[in-house]
Amino acid sequence: MIEKRQFYIDGSWVDPVTASDFPVIDPSTEEEVGVISLGSQADTDAAVAAARSAFDDWSRTDPSDRIALVERLLEIYNNRAEDMAEAISLEMGAPIDFSRAEQVAAGSGHIKAGLRAARDFQFVRLLGPHAPGAKILMEPVGTVAMITPWNWPMNQVALKVVPALLAGCTMVLKPSEIAPFSSVLFTEILDEAGVPAGVYNMVNGDGPGVGSQLSCHPDIDMVSFTGSTRAGIAISKAAADTIKRVSLELGGKGANLVFADAGEEAVRRGVADMMENTGQSCNAPSRMLVERSFYDEAVEIARDAAEATEVGPAHKAGGHIGPLVSQAQWDKVQGLIQKGLDEGARLVAGGLGRPEGLNRGFFARPTVFADVTNDMTIAREEIFGPVLSMIPFESEAEAIRIANDTPYGLTNYAQTSDEARQRRLAHRLRAGMVVLNGKSRGSGAPFGGVKQSGNGREGGVWGIEEFLEVKSVGGYPEG
Ligand code: NAD
Repeated sequence: MIEKRQFYIDGSWVDPVTASDFPVIDPSTEEEVGVISLGSQADTDAAVAAARSAFDDWSRTDPSDRIALVERLLEIYNNRAEDMAEAISLEMGAPIDFSRAEQVAAGSGHIKAGLRAARDFQFVRLLGPHAPGAKILMEPVGTVAMITPWNWPMNQVALKVVPALLAGCTMVLKPSEIAPFSSVLFTEILDEAGVPAGVYNMVNGDGPGVGSQLSCHPDIDMVSFTGSTRAGIAISKAAADTIKRVSLELGGKGANLVFADAGEEAVRRGVADMMENTGQSCNAPSRMLVERSFYDEAVEIARDAAEATEVGPAHKAGGHIGPLVSQAQWDKVQGLIQKGLDEGARLVAGGLGRPEGLNRGFFARPTVFADVTNDMTIAREEIFGPVLSMIPFESEAEAIRIANDTPYGLTNYAQTSDEARQRRLAHRLRAGMVVLNGKSRGSGAPFGGVKQSGNGREGGVWGIEEFLEVKSVGGYPEG
């Protein structure tokens, strides 16, 4: 049994003011494997006060000192990669090989990209040659609350903590109460790296508790949030009275446009990308739109790919997918599969219940629905499970219309060998990100959405800018 009840406040591990135990469940076995404590208002206040009083000194440090701290963080993070892989695998069910290769690596990738961006970052800029003495000072926004989800824990924590440190902000992290072990370990790593007392603080807690206490706290200047659109709305409202900056990275319902010239591999890749992390990714390509002339063939390829997707426990080596994170998530996914059946979508793979041979653990069946229409619940709501919806289209114009007909706008995907069409789609799909033919957007590229997928941009240069205020000065002396 792992016991991690303490919080990290003002450079020390401290007991909660009032005990409030919360179990951590292994999703592969449904067993309780650990315990944390949920913080109270007094813990939140202590962490915010520590961050607030550290701000004046930290915000005036030289950027090179902040870079040096993050370089030490990267080194220790890499040394403890195996511990991190095991923590993530245990708390949220990512199979251990996937946890090592993707979950842990996402964190180190963002630390490296943050460092690269910071080394060239101009904190003091000239307005332009037309305005001598007019300067732009990029200054840290202040004391930041960071609230993160469970699905890619180190990806999201690194995308917030690293740029905020580099920008000169101080902070309080509240990680997901469902997957807290990786953040406790990340905090140990930061402590070992020598983060000055108060600059970084961590308090565990749930949304209604520490989450909302931070969102309306008068001494917090900004809330950086990743999670559901539901919680993003609640946080925005709570933050409104004190006019905080609120940066939101929310849900998605990505469209993957597959044209007839794309071929079998594009469909297989689309299914694999949907099933990755057991479908629990905000940028999952969950609606596969297929050109009519290729549609019947694509449905058969997708069925085959889904049926070939293995499901198994997180501790087992191999390329399988793991369980869903929790009973609540399992119930939600089952409810949405049932909705798909009730609303008349054609089930071609998977379906209700657990995969054969797995009768304990939050395991779901890799599922494909065909003949989905874009007004069905499974095409509109984020399922956050291994469930693909396939929708036929007749023309490029219709494909774009269906892709953009969603409250979300995080990532869209397109598969076609026609270069002119690739360019048109890159411009016309309404989303923060477009991925063409499975090609990388590049390390340090901005991550974020439009519409109800949020307003933030994390990663690289954009990630640092999120944590800065822009000050305009006239008459700044030369030299
Ligand atoms: P969630 O919104 O339930 O919880 C996320 C975090 O917010 C947790 O730390 C939780 O304790 C906290 N929280 C919940 N309610 C709150 C409230 N009222 N006030 C303050 N804090 C509150 O989401 P989840 O189930 O942990 O994660 C899944 C969601 O996250 C999905 O919708 C997914 O799309 C989204 N997500 C988005 C991105 C992105 O970058 N756009 C990345 C990953 C996940």
